[in-house]
Amino acid sequence: MTTPLVTLRDIEAARAVIAGHVTRTPVVPSPSLSQHCGGDVHLKLESLQPTGAFKLRGATNRLMALTAEERRRGVVTMSTGNHGRGVAYAAKRLGVPAVVCMSTLVPRTKVDAIRDLGADARIVGDSQDEAGVEAERCVAEDGMVMVSPFDDPAVIAGQGTIGLELLEDLPAVDLVLVPLSGGGLIGGIAVAVKALRPQARVVGVTMERGAAMYESLKAGHPVPVKEEPTLADSLGGGIGLDNRYTFALCRTLLDDVVLVSEEEIAEAMRHTFWQDRLVAEGGAVVGQAALLTGKVAAAGQTVACILSGRNVDMHQFVDIVTRPASGGAPS
Ligand SMILES: *Cc1c(COP(=O)(O)O)cnc(C)c1O
Repeated sequence: MTTPLVTLRDIEAARAVIAGHVTRTPVVPSPSLSQHCGGDVHLKLESLQPTGAFKLRGATNRLMALTAEERRRGVVTMSTGNHGRGVAYAAKRLGVPAVVCMSTLVPRTKVDAIRDLGADARIVGDSQDEAGVEAERCVAEDGMVMVSPFDDPAVIAGQGTIGLELLEDLPAVDLVLVPLSGGGLIGGIAVAVKALRPQARVVGVTMERGAAMYESLKAGHPVPVKEEPTLADSLGGGIGLDNRYTFALCRTLLDDVVLVSEEEIAEAMRHTFWQDRLVAEGGAVVGQAALLTGKVAAAGQTVACILSGRNVDMHQFVDIVTRPASGGAPS
């Protein structure tokens, strides 16, 4: 069997489908990061989506493809929070019943937002994989339609629309830094970027704690990782041992994958808040962390960081950004 690929045309089609349902987000310069790393650094603000994260793109594209019969049966998903919120939002809009299965690791603020949208939010187990068992049960016993958070061509194409917008706004981009978990976000972006600007590098960044795609790429096949609490909670979870799309896309298209520590993520949250004046969740600033630590060199290059979401518990956020920064007092 050949690997079914997501193509630029799929992404262009997705863009037409989701237009009017999702926000075309701005790309803004980051003078402080540019100064820090000697490049020309920009942030694409997916945090401005109505659900606070990019996952609305893929969820909307997938749900718009449901048949009338599938809409009646309803959708089910497992999520670290942001995908569930995107599914719940799109489902509400289309009048489709939605069940979102999440583990105990998912922050309360994300669970509450999903309930507020009218979805049936279920807390099952201590990892996304355990929550996935309940989602599979809903498919097998209740006939619901599974909407994968990343391993679905329609989801990947939806996330890839970020790449199209980025290249319109920053046509000279040399390096795209993308938060990486299951690989739907970077997979879609990489398809678009490599098709339209092949010389640009696409680099995934993820946390040291439970780096599922990183370990899988290293092993040459999907491997299980233990899911641990992390500031980058939206990057938790495995890639699925039966992964069909994102592993192959990442293996083919990524130029590198870089890991950052919890303290480096916290520092990047502080930097993004005090210098760029933006609220971002831990999983959304790993690209900035890679630049701040020098783990990715950016001197002389035009760089884009995908700021993927802002759905952080605000008490935790305030606690992190008011801790003394290692780089001195905020200005
Ligand atoms: C899901 C998520 C990611 C990672 O996306 P994948 O498609 O799973 O790689 C990054 N940032 C945020 C905020 C997310 O919610």
